[in-house]
Amino acid sequence: MDLVFFGIQGSGKGTQAKRLCQEFGFEYFEAGGELRKIKASGSDLGKTVASYIDVGKLVPHEIIMQVCEEAIRAKDPTRPILFDGIPRDADQQRDFDRIMATLGRDFRCIEITLDPEVGVQRIKGRAKVEGRKDDVDEATIRKRMGTFLEKTRPVIENYRKQGKVTNVDGDRSVEEVYEDLKQSLMDIEK
Ligand code: AMP
Repeated sequence: MDLVFFGIQGSGKGTQAKRLCQEFGFEYFEAGGELRKIKASGSDLGKTVASYIDVGKLVPHEIIMQVCEEAIRAKDPTRPILFDGIPRDADQQRDFDRIMATLGRDFRCIEITLDPEVGVQRIKGRAKVEGRKDDVDEATIRKRMGTFLEKTRPVIENYRKQGKVTNVDGDRSVEEVYEDLKQSLMDIEK
């Protein structure tokens, strides 16, 4: 069973996802990370991608869906995948569901919940350590969060109606959140 991870910027989603992958043997698909790799390549596509992620806008639909589908097809089909950062809006959800159905992959979702203001403060701290361009400027951080609230929240609610979503409270220590995530995962797998 695959897992789709949701959480507002600063919720600790990426950190927790990587730990779960190590402990539970998931393949990892990190949408933002894949796009940052494409940006770093300096290709024409990379320049296009940079022009979106540097200002906190979603990259065009066709680009992210192609990146996602190619990544799924390239992974070991016998291992579960943890998706981080996709689907992020209704169009992506429609195509993501179609791709997953075509490939016969079933999934559940976990949302790490967090007050957006706590997320802003956490990201400002992270900016000093990781040096991500889209973390430095508070207006860009808020723009990304606005996109989450406006476009990604309806995606989560849609999956919630389908009984696919478990919530985990992200406003606690990394260890406490991780313990809760592990428990949720075990409940999902039952
Ligand atoms: P993240 O690492 O999840 O914060 O993503 C960083 C940036 O990558 C976002 O602000 C977007 O510009 C881009 N990005 C990540 N995931 C997606 C996606 N599913 N669709 C479009 N753009 C994305």
